[in-house]
Amino acid sequence: MREQDPDTRVSNFAEVPLGYTDEEARAEARRCLGCRTAPCVAACPVAVAIPEFVGQIAGGAFPAAARTIRRANALPAICGRVCPQEDQCEKACLLGKRGQPLAIGHLERFAADRERREGRVEPPARKPECGKRIAVVGSGPAGLTVASELAGAGCAVVVLEALHALGGVLTYGIPEFRLPKAIVKDEIAGLEALGMRFVRNFVVGRTETIDHLLKEDGFDAVFIGTGAGLPSFLGIPGENAVGVYSANEYLTRSNLMKAYRPDAATPILRSPRVVTVGGGNVAMDAARTARRLDTVQSIVVYRRGEAEMPARIEEVRHAKEEGVLLRTLCHPAAILEDEEGFVQGIRCLRVELGDRDASGRRRPVPIPDSAFTIECEIVIVAIGNRPNPLIPDTTPDILVSGRGTIVADPADGRTSRPRVYAGGDIVTGSATVIQAMGAGRAAARSILEDLGQPVQPRM
Ligand SMILES: Cc1cc2nc3c(=O)[nH]c(=O)nc-3n(C[C@H](O)[C@H](O)[C@H](O)COP(=O)(O)OP(=O)(O)OC[C@H]3O[C@@H](n4cnc5c(N)ncnc54)[C@H](O)[C@@H]3O)c2cc1C
Repeated sequence: MREQDPDTRVSNFAEVPLGYTDEEARAEARRCLGCRTAPCVAACPVAVAIPEFVGQIAGGAFPAAARTIRRANALPAICGRVCPQEDQCEKACLLGKRGQPLAIGHLERFAADRERREGRVEPPARKPECGKRIAVVGSGPAGLTVASELAGAGCAVVVLEALHALGGVLTYGIPEFRLPKAIVKDEIAGLEALGMRFVRNFVVGRTETIDHLLKEDGFDAVFIGTGAGLPSFLGIPGENAVGVYSANEYLTRSNLMKAYRPDAATPILRSPRVVTVGGGNVAMDAARTARRLDTVQSIVVYRRGEAEMPARIEEVRHAKEEGVLLRTLCHPAAILEDEEGFVQGIRCLRVELGDRDASGRRRPVPIPDSAFTIECEIVIVAIGNRPNPLIPDTTPDILVSGRGTIVADPADGRTSRPRVYAGGDIVTGSATVIQAMGAGRAAARSILEDLGQPVQPRM
């Protein structure tokens, strides 16, 4: 797919990949082998009918392709952009055994974008009202998926969102240059047509508890999709210095509060030298955002090697093209500050990789006497997020794991509390958009089953 030139894009927040033309999409779609076993479908957490929609694109039936995707995926323009296809459908593609796998993500994005551009997005079918009322807590991909499935099944659905904006990480985390917010808004507006109601600035656990929703407000079931938005920190000296951000804060200021715009009310520090600590998508997003905010030297410090980085390959490539430097096998030991408490640099130790840990990755072992300093004015900590404990702390008898995640059956979203379901990052810890959507879909089915409502086969 054609992309904005790296030298141009570091001075704007517009999307980097430019999308396929009709001809490009059809040519790519024609590469599909149409395997009878369709391993790509089995590798998709929501089982999109991939060969079917790809065949429709190949034949020029673009609106039909979009409709096929929407049968299984309520947010195709989003998933076509941010799903780690290289680890899912495209990894299973048989074309990949001998060359490049089919660009399934690009094709999904093409079909969804074309449908939007032509104003052809049809409101999803909705069954007659069934009299059941469901509260969905959180409007990220998990909550939006549950809400759309249940609203489509005729339930009255209310989505309660703590922030003033909907979409969860899609809106406040993933930058505009990877996922334009106009697309997130459009996809959510499409779901709203199903009749669900959104209530913003409603913090469940503060404004009302889960028990209040069930007992006082009379909801028949509650789904918790509150994500994992609590940033982890390094726990090293100097982490309170001025100029240290969690990636969540840095990205929220930029994405949600538009701090990159000159007219924004929310400030964000700008400086020529920024160090981001971490190796995932979040770290890449922060380092690339810094490049767009006047940073000349944006360095990512990661404690393992590049091959071990959990970030998407495409994100790492884009970051490098944009001049982001990777310092791998580095372990941050302290953040250095001046006498006024402003960040001056970060002290690191070199590491070597030792035995494999529980995650199967080789453990980083600091090398004695290998300390060195990287001078910088901003340090962004992007080493992971945990669930906020607010709902677990205010919901008696809900089972919570040692990691602070809500314990729910991955197959159906049922928790230890009757009529309370959960899915997405609040259950798995930080994961992916499509996994959160898959969990939302599974929970919607069990909610319908438990409420004695018919469950519609989706494929
Ligand atoms: C910067 C960044 C980049 C990422 N990039 C990718 C990527 O490229 N591809 C990918 O697949 N995944 C990516 N991820 C991960 C992905 O975004 C998440 O796995 C996914 O969004 C989880 O969905 P969710 O619905 O469980 O939670 P979230 O998206 O976190 O949504 C939870 C929602 O619940 C709300 N909420 C929280 N507490 C309450 C409360 N008490 N009351 C009411 N509402 C509440 C929050 O405000 C939020 O809107 C990224 C994550 C980050 C942070």
